[in-house]
Amino acid sequence: MTILSVGTRPAETPVPAGLRVGVLALQGDFREHAQVLRELGAIVDLVRRPEELDRIDGLVIPGGESSVMDKLARTFGLAEPLQAAIRGGLPVYGTCAGLIMLADTILDGMNGQQSFGGLDIAVRRNAFGSQTASFETDLDIPALGEQPVHAVFIRAPVVETVGPRATALATLADGRCVAVQQGNLLGTSFHPEITGEYRFHQYFLQKLVAAAR
Ligand code: GLN
Repeated sequence: MTILSVGTRPAETPVPAGLRVGVLALQGDFREHAQVLRELGAIVDLVRRPEELDRIDGLVIPGGESSVMDKLARTFGLAEPLQAAIRGGLPVYGTCAGLIMLADTILDGMNGQQSFGGLDIAVRRNAFGSQTASFETDLDIPALGEQPVHAVFIRAPVVETVGPRATALATLADGRCVAVQQGNLLGTSFHPEITGEYRFHQYFLQKLVAAAR
């Protein structure tokens, strides 16, 4: 297999040619994720139908509005096959609304709101208040190297409970958890895809490469 080197990015990540990453494109900022992944050398499929899950090596669930994503996923018959794929080990990275969709438990969800689940966490929606409560901050995330991550939070959730199967990757100064991982699953309350931050996507691609072997 040919190895394409991602030369100028902060950490060298060899992306095997042919690695195919899906981006859930029901709603939200899927275009931004697709752009970052393409720049890192991945082939990107926009995923809207169940059969499109069959050929991807991993999936990104973008930011947006989780209650709308939930409704659309169920309407398109995507929710159950995706839950099965997650249980079967499909690597998935969720940002913001995507993190909510990966949480086993949603706090302050809309009436009847469901998630795909997979991450052993409880996530509180809109934990910082309304749109005006959006903010930016720098986070130390040792797993991604020494340089802090500039994180943008937009009507963001926080991870209120990290269960025994999940691990916190990043916390705010007040101790609240805003990034987690669990096996092939990764989730952030914030949006690396809009700040020129490539390290989370690289970190996720490493999980894909390992899983695809
Ligand atoms: N508040 C949104 C939700 O509940 C998430 C916002 C975002 O993805 N930027 O889904």
